Amino acid sequence: MKADSSLVTSVIYSPNNSGKRVYPLTRVSVHCVVGQCVASSLGNLFSNASFEASSNYGVGKDGSIGQYLPESYRSWCTSSYDNDNRAITIEVASDTYAPYKVTDAAYKALIKLLVDICRRNGKKKLLWFGDKNKSLSYSPKSDELVMTVHRWFANKSCPGDYLYNLHGTIASEVTKQLGGSSGSTPTTTPSTNVAKPAVTFRVRQGGTWQKEGFTGTAGKAITDIAIKVTKGSVKYRVHVKGGSWLPWVTGYNTSEHSNGYAGNGKAIDAVQVYYSTPADVVNAHGYYKAKYLVSPLKKGFYSYQYDTETTNGQDGYAGSHGKTIDRFQVLLSK
Ligand SMILES: [Zn+2]
Repeated sequence: MKADSSLVTSVIYSPNNSGKRVYPLTRVSVHCVVGQCVASSLGNLFSNASFEASSNYGVGKDGSIGQYLPESYRSWCTSSYDNDNRAITIEVASDTYAPYKVTDAAYKALIKLLVDICRRNGKKKLLWFGDKNKSLSYSPKSDELVMTVHRWFANKSCPGDYLYNLHGTIASEVTKQLGGSSGSTPTTTPSTNVAKPAVTFRVRQGGTWQKEGFTGTAGKAITDIAIKVTKGSVKYRVHVKGGSWLPWVTGYNTSEHSNGYAGNGKAIDAVQVYYSTPADVVNAHGYYKAKYLVSPLKKGFYSYQYDTETTNGQDGYAGSHGKTIDRFQVLLSK
């Protein structure tokens, strides 16, 4: 196998592939390795048939670049026949723990590699929509590549929040170097004037939405919750007492049942909230988490829950199954 890119520092073929891709190249999927390794180590792993996984490229912690499959081949990387047949896949060495940070050397090499891939394949724009449905339904023009992420196809955090939050920056930086205009993709804002993110919420009790920021009236069951942030994104869901978790929602609109709030009008006993910090905030202030708590009917508040963490005695959610809650509070905290 010959390297497609002159940036490649090691070529190690992986038998874990389906041969030539059956769809035209229209996507790029960046992954995190969950390990700080050099490109050749990842190649050695993928060269083992029993590993049953591969990627087209790998970027090491030292900026080394490995190629494991020709760009024209379908890798076994994203848990999706459809996506892997359309995407060049790139694994990037990362920390083994959230947010799966990558080194500066790896980040710089990734940008270079993406620019090179685009140039050789006649692409002038790298696009990041930050939305699964929009990305998968979009028909790219012949000079566009769309970024997709593993977490849309499997129950994984890949590419990790560190790289995920940089996707907008990566898309605009690569497009800029290609000499194009990135259109809707965001650019990095100087850290000096980046506002800190804030959160607010509303709870519904007895069929009425309380005013914004009010934790709730003691003794009245909370049935629905709506949460919004000023920057970044939040996802949240509620658990119905005697029932199950309702789907995650991301919107904030008390008259939009499908994604505007969490709840179905029945008493709830637990809540989960997860905050994703955008790249400019990370650069200026660091990572934030949703910090929230609830109280069971007419009782004192339980302890704080951070995001969906299960470390330090946290349950991964606020509340206790079987115990209706009547008050709720959420903040953003580091
Ligand atoms: Zn992945």
